[in-house]
Amino acid sequence: MLATVMHAPGDVRYESVPDPEIVHPTDAIIKLFATCICGSDLWPYRGLQPLNGPMHMGHEYCGMVVEVGSAVRMVRPGQFVVGSFCLSDNTCPHCRIGFQSSCEQREFMSGAQAPFARVPLADGTLVATAEVPPDDLVPSLLATSDVLGTGWYAADAARVRPGSTVAVVGDGAVGLMGVLAAKQMGAERIIAMSRHKSRQDLALEYGATDIVAERGAEGVKRIRELTRNVGADSVLECVGTQESMDQAIRCARPGAMVGYVGVPHAVQLDGQGMFFAQVGTMGGPAPVRRFLPHLMELVLSRKIDPGKVFDQVLPLEDVAEGYRAMDQRRAIKTLLRVSA
Ligand SMILES: [Zn+2]
Repeated sequence: MLATVMHAPGDVRYESVPDPEIVHPTDAIIKLFATCICGSDLWPYRGLQPLNGPMHMGHEYCGMVVEVGSAVRMVRPGQFVVGSFCLSDNTCPHCRIGFQSSCEQREFMSGAQAPFARVPLADGTLVATAEVPPDDLVPSLLATSDVLGTGWYAADAARVRPGSTVAVVGDGAVGLMGVLAAKQMGAERIIAMSRHKSRQDLALEYGATDIVAERGAEGVKRIRELTRNVGADSVLECVGTQESMDQAIRCARPGAMVGYVGVPHAVQLDGQGMFFAQVGTMGGPAPVRRFLPHLMELVLSRKIDPGKVFDQVLPLEDVAEGYRAMDQRRAIKTLLRVSA
């Protein structure tokens, strides 16, 4: 089949690769309905993360099961499924308390920017719908696989409560999903930090009540003003830089939690600063599997529409253009359609 392979920074090709096969009896093969490009795919694309040889890209996926290994019991061919970017057995001690992204057997999904993909640990990873969903729900179901699940985890980790004030640092796709999540969890005030008009508009649509365009010290000052100098009850950090993490901690009121899901790049925390800030932090790779059944139900009952975060739709074979568009910030997030 033809699939997406990154050969070097800036060099993404849609080219011939071997068809995926069942390797372990716990594997499934799925036919993708749609897939997409993740912000984290841009790190190797920009040369910010080493690439050890050609890499099969793609870890966000939904589609139809076409084959299962002999040990698979929970899903069967013909079912529509969504899975997390973290593959998990869903039975080990970490999975059982809802931290499937730290599963003892954890693997990371790859090779999903393709017409077919192998999903290891299928029983623990995949969640099936009762019926094959209508086409118009596919983008939103795809979003639950990573971007929505990650934004949701940021809000969960930041302990967003009904009636609370939430600040969201980062207006990428995950930050926008964090706004949606905070709204669903009943936050009364949601302050989105964004400098881009199209992203501000989407944040407002997803439930933001205030937009702060300033960054750094100015951004913190603005949030302090908006909260009568108290700070936010919960802060979602969805970027992963020193500046964004500092900003998140300084926007948080004493006793607040910062949920951080932007993978930290050279971020350092000051011990004494944290001691006197009296702010808690919880973050990491999102345990999307914990949230998947609930998020898929919200989508299937049309209570949320996370699929709007995809502002560019391309056929899968044009994947290289999708990477360029996201790299150049012409697109927030690119959905790749897989032809039937
Ligand atoms: Zn596990």
